[in-house]
Amino acid sequence: MSNSIRRIGVFTSGGDAPGMNAAIRAVVRTSMNMGIECIGIRRGYSGLISGDFVKLDFSIVSGLLRRGGTMLYSARSETFKTPEGQQKALATCKLLGIDGLVGIGGDGTFRGLLALSKLGISVAGIPGTIDNDINCSTHTVGFDTACNTAQDAIDKLRDTTESHERCSVVEVMGRHAGHLALSVGVACGATTVLVPERPIDFERDVVEPIRRSRLSGRTHFMVIVAEGVGSAYDVAARIREETALDTRVTVLGHIQRGGAPTARDRIAATYMGYEAVRLLAEGKSNRVVCMQGDTYVDYDIDEALNMKKDLDIQTYTVMQALTGVDY
Ligand code: ATP
Repeated sequence: MSNSIRRIGVFTSGGDAPGMNAAIRAVVRTSMNMGIECIGIRRGYSGLISGDFVKLDFSIVSGLLRRGGTMLYSARSETFKTPEGQQKALATCKLLGIDGLVGIGGDGTFRGLLALSKLGISVAGIPGTIDNDINCSTHTVGFDTACNTAQDAIDKLRDTTESHERCSVVEVMGRHAGHLALSVGVACGATTVLVPERPIDFERDVVEPIRRSRLSGRTHFMVIVAEGVGSAYDVAARIREETALDTRVTVLGHIQRGGAPTARDRIAATYMGYEAVRLLAEGKSNRVVCMQGDTYVDYDIDEALNMKKDLDIQTYTVMQALTGVDY
């Protein structure tokens, strides 16, 4: 294996996701076993600008596989979007002797990597976000854990919703994407799911599914709303108004970002961390590691950013078949 890369930097950026730590560990262990030094950049691109780093080794990443959050912290940086900010980041790379960078995050993080690759740094991206909204990858690190966390919470909520014969409106994360809401809806047997990608007809998509469910004998209801749809409180108020049901809102919020990663996220993070280092060590750059089904592949960052991903049509079809609603 060619080893022109001597020292790589790794960082996490954008919204955090369970499994980011597992990806950091995989990057560190793989690179060290290849004889490549590994530097952790703290606080995403703002740390790259300010030179906020930590030397990483086997002992520092020991026990990291199962830990939620990110030991390198995550941040957003407006300054990095400017040419001046990018020059400062480049200067940090030069000062520390970093010739390859692995960035773990979402689309914005990949745009930043692209900018750095144009300045001559070898880069590789790993999709880490609970939203599963990275177009080139069928699975992103953190999505499975967030689904399981939401499922666990909603199962508990269902117990009390059922006891009191209520309608629960549950807001899950997803400002622009409904992947989490839809998958959680299937996993929890929701009465209906509202996502930002589809225009909503309240009568057809909310009231009618509740009525059909009531007519089939059910006396409690579970409505899942992705946060990008709008206020869950408004949805609940309208349900109350139109059905006279005792309706309560639960906003799951940031608990969806935390917790020990599931086996699926640990495995994905580990494979992707390994692949990112392998690509850099082979002299490749400007790549995003991703999953297509069960296979790990990599794309050029430009190509990856230009790909399109709609809601999973199979999940939609299953949801329709089980609720009898034509969304
Ligand atoms: P999330 O899924 O949480 O949105 P993300 O990686 O898309 O993750 P962003 O806040 O969009 O999160 O981007 C993270 C950081 O990447 C930004 O704070 C910024 O520093 C950098 N970045 C975003 N867009 C660009 C861009 N067009 N050019 C250079 N850097 C960018």
